[in-house]
Amino acid sequence: MVIESIAVCGAGTMGAGIAQIAAYSGYRTTLFDIRPDGLERAKAQIEKSLTGAVEKGKLAVADKESILQRISFTAAINDCKADLIIEAIVENLSAKTSLFNQLAEINTAKTIFATNTSSLSVSTIAAAVTVHPSRVAGMHFFNPAHLMKLVEVVSGRETSPEVADVLYAVAMRMGKVPVRVKDAPGFIVNRVARLYYLEAMHLAAEHVADFSAIDQLLESVGFKMGPFALMDLIGNDVNLAVTQSLYDAFNHAPRFKPNTLQEQRVKEGKLGRKTGLGFYKYEQQ
Ligand code: NAD
Repeated sequence: MVIESIAVCGAGTMGAGIAQIAAYSGYRTTLFDIRPDGLERAKAQIEKSLTGAVEKGKLAVADKESILQRISFTAAINDCKADLIIEAIVENLSAKTSLFNQLAEINTAKTIFATNTSSLSVSTIAAAVTVHPSRVAGMHFFNPAHLMKLVEVVSGRETSPEVADVLYAVAMRMGKVPVRVKDAPGFIVNRVARLYYLEAMHLAAEHVADFSAIDQLLESVGFKMGPFALMDLIGNDVNLAVTQSLYDAFNHAPRFKPNTLQEQRVKEGKLGRKTGLGFYKYEQQ
């Protein structure tokens, strides 16, 4: 199985970064979203990031142009034909399975279907789609996807070893550090990190310290980002959906119970950086 083309579905926080690193690594890349304004934002974000790399002397101007030329931005699902599909749409099972089913109709029997889900079961997705389950897997990037090295390559119950190997090789070609993981709620990172977010929210809710004090402290002991800044970067809607999904998967174990501080923000549309307001306030980009 040789991968030459990648279609990334969803041009939000993750999809834009995944498309950027795919094109940077030489793959013919399609970035698809149902929202044209999302595509515009993703294009501007990718251009800005590549321009920044040129200004820092890390990328030649000609390379920037050829990377951009390798990406086609589209709102038409019929353009999503590729050797590898990487889905990064909303964290919702039926949305993801419905997308895969539509894409199965227009792609070949060799196309690999990878989901960037943070917390949904890859095996459950595979069981609900018309794609052969051996060709469905997880390829879990971290935020920001063009920079973060780790990629969890997730094998569902029926993912073929060849498919997992191909995804591992694609991640290597992208300059990532892939880790093979079996399908389990939250895989590795999101399961461990849940307690980082939830415990910090307990502290703030109990008025032990405010968001910035907790963030500053954790950053001072070596965490790259404090929990509140990180939840705002991830998106509170996305982060809450992951917590909810683990809470459900672990039969409502209290340690994974979603916190009202975050639930309230999501209800109010305070999703973090992407809406300009979350735990903190941001200048709108
Ligand atoms: P996001 O809300 O920023 O973007 C989602 C995009 O998908 C939006 O632009 C939306 O218009 C588009 N979309 C929705 N339905 C679609 C459809 N049917 N077809 C095409 N496009 C559609 O979300 P995100 O933060 O990029 O998360 C995407 C996925 O990646 C989720 O599964 C999430 O759990 C996972 N993930 C997120 C992070 C993170 O830090 N945000 C990290 C790792 C994995």
